[in-house]
This record gives sequence, structure tokens and C-alpha cells, in this order.
Amino acid sequence: MSDCLFCKIVAKEIPATVVYESDRALAFRDINPQAPTHVLVIPKLHVANAVELADAGDGLADDVLRAAHAVAEQEGVSEGGYRIVFNTGADAGQTVFHVHAHVLGGRSLTWPPG
Ligand code: IMP
Repeated sequence: MSDCLFCKIVAKEIPATVVYESDRALAFRDINPQAPTHVLVIPKLHVANAVELADAGDGLADDVLRAAHAVAEQEGVSEGGYRIVFNTGADAGQTVFHVHAHVLGGRSLTWPPG
């Protein structure tokens, strides 16, 4: 999508600190980190939210979740624990409508989230 921020990151039209890339997924550091590790993992294909990601089929959601775990391992937070968050819809705080998994870790994370 031409007006999608994250599609522009995929297309390298906007810079990002990429930490992981596979054929169908891309992970880059969040510009406004909320934890020592705060990485966004996206499918390169434009889909708006988590259910559209599931509906895309062909193992795309699996690829994103595996990429999230690979990022957690790479960041050294997979053993201590980390959080994968898909904000879904405006009330949940979703501001970019290209699905993204927030991978958060590196500190003790509280519950419930705000
Ligand atoms: P959402 O609120 O769940 O949609 O998450 C969007 C995330 O994208 C926020 O955590 C923002 O800080 C992050 N973000 C916005 N623009 C950029 C960017 O250009 N690079 C990296 N992260 C961004």
C-alpha cells in the first residue's frame, strides 16, 4: 500500500533499524521503545491486523510468530520471558494499520497493561 508507513519501511523508502529479516517477515526497532527490547515484527505483505494475518493463510502468521521468537532469542530475552502484543483496533491503541507484533522484553513487565 503506497500510503502505509510500514510498507515504506519494507520498501526501504523510510529508514529503520532492522534486526531480523526473512523472506516474508521483517523486524525493526520501535522508534519509541517501551522496554529495553522493543522490536516490531511485520509480514512484508500488507495486512491490517491479526485476524487478517491469520486469514492470509499459507503459514504467514506462523512466519511472523517464529520471527518474533527469533528476535527474542537474538535479543537474549527468550529465557527470561518476553511479551508479544498485537494491538488490534483503535481502542487497543493500534495506530499503524499494517499488522505488527510488538516484541517487548528486557525488564519485568507488569500486568494488566495500561
Ligand atoms: P501500535 O500503536 O500498536 O499501532 O504500534 C505502532 C508502533 O509503531 C508504535 O509503538 C510506534 O512507536 C512505532 N512506530 C511508528 N513509526 C515508526 C517508525 O518509523 N519506525 C519504527 N517504529 C515506529
